[in-house]
Amino acid sequence: MQRIYLDANATTPVLPEVFDAMRPYWLEAFGNPSSAHHSGQRARSAVERARASVAELLHCSPKEIVFTSGGTESDNLALSGVLQPYLDKREPAHLITTQIEHHAVLFAAGSLERRGIEVTYLAPSSEGIIDPAAFEAALRPHTRLVSVMLANNETGVIQPIGKLARMTKNHNANILFHTDAVQAAAKLPIDLSSEFKNVDLLSLSGHKMYAPQGTGLLFVRSGAQLAPLFLGGPHERQRRAGTENVPGIVALGRAAELSQQWLDPSLDSEISQLAALRDRLEKGLLNAIPNANVNGSTTHRAPNTTNLRFDGVDAESLLIALDMQGIAASFGAACQSGATEASHVLLAMGLTPTQARSSLRLSLSSLTTADEIDRAVEIIPAAVAHLRALRP
Ligand code: PLP
Repeated sequence: MQRIYLDANATTPVLPEVFDAMRPYWLEAFGNPSSAHHSGQRARSAVERARASVAELLHCSPKEIVFTSGGTESDNLALSGVLQPYLDKREPAHLITTQIEHHAVLFAAGSLERRGIEVTYLAPSSEGIIDPAAFEAALRPHTRLVSVMLANNETGVIQPIGKLARMTKNHNANILFHTDAVQAAAKLPIDLSSEFKNVDLLSLSGHKMYAPQGTGLLFVRSGAQLAPLFLGGPHERQRRAGTENVPGIVALGRAAELSQQWLDPSLDSEISQLAALRDRLEKGLLNAIPNANVNGSTTHRAPNTTNLRFDGVDAESLLIALDMQGIAASFGAACQSGATEASHVLLAMGLTPTQARSSLRLSLSSLTTADEIDRAVEIIPAAVAHLRALRP
């Protein structure tokens, strides 16, 4: 059976070019970048080249990049790094975030809240978008940090980050603004020198952009103060102790270079082809399946994601049926697979628990082909019809 992978928001494959770039840093130039000898210095140069590539993609300075173990660590470093010092000094501090963040942000916010940080969790509209007026109304004199994601992992819906960050700085230039851009990398342009010039902290994860799992970074704008999560060495300019994951960092650098090519607006970019394939899948399914709807905005959305609701169908049973026919998809966030609770994102958008449990996320990668989409448009409607026919 030819398998069809439609779960790129859970993880992307490592591209052959990325794998080839990292391979020598296991087998030949395996030195520790902190070592003064030749092998160490080859590794150090590779890390710094990767830092420059990532900085070019994000339009920032290489000094502003802190390599981490992934999106979860980057989000925790952003939230705890900014807010823990207020707890230590026993100064009041307020965090604004949203109900639709990934659990890497929500659980970090919950832990800070239990230790004394005041937290506002903004609700999205039914389209999955945070209202800028409600956001502005939530800003307080002791607000110290904002954390709003750029693209949602379940719906792909994009938040107006440039606008929210500008409003934050107009209110008080000292408030730091964090965005979890994990699901935007390799899909949307991210420019920290123009549109996102008011963003201070930004998280990315390697395994959502064709580099391996366990790699990631946090952009920390020059001047932003951050307490490290890990202690033990001067790595990453005192912001993240621990010997660098050299092959992983090299992979991130190569993946950043490839993303930059795909996002080049002068080319008929990979990204518009990805969006065309996603639209073909979505239209095909909506045409073939009665009582099917898209969850969330279809205009402000990452180009590779669709979240579809099939009324009267249990998405968990559908996932199992699809897997048996070779289609990998997801319901809710990947880390919740196997659990039966409804997606917190869809509930926050106003869906009922039953509607949320009838929703399926399909997310394409740059390797998805038109043939795969056409086969998915045949297999999924048949599986939905079969499950509906089994209903009592
Ligand atoms: N943030 C978002 C929006 C995500 O989708 C994910 C992973 O699914 C993460 C953070 C966590 O990233 P990682 O798996 O690299 O820890």
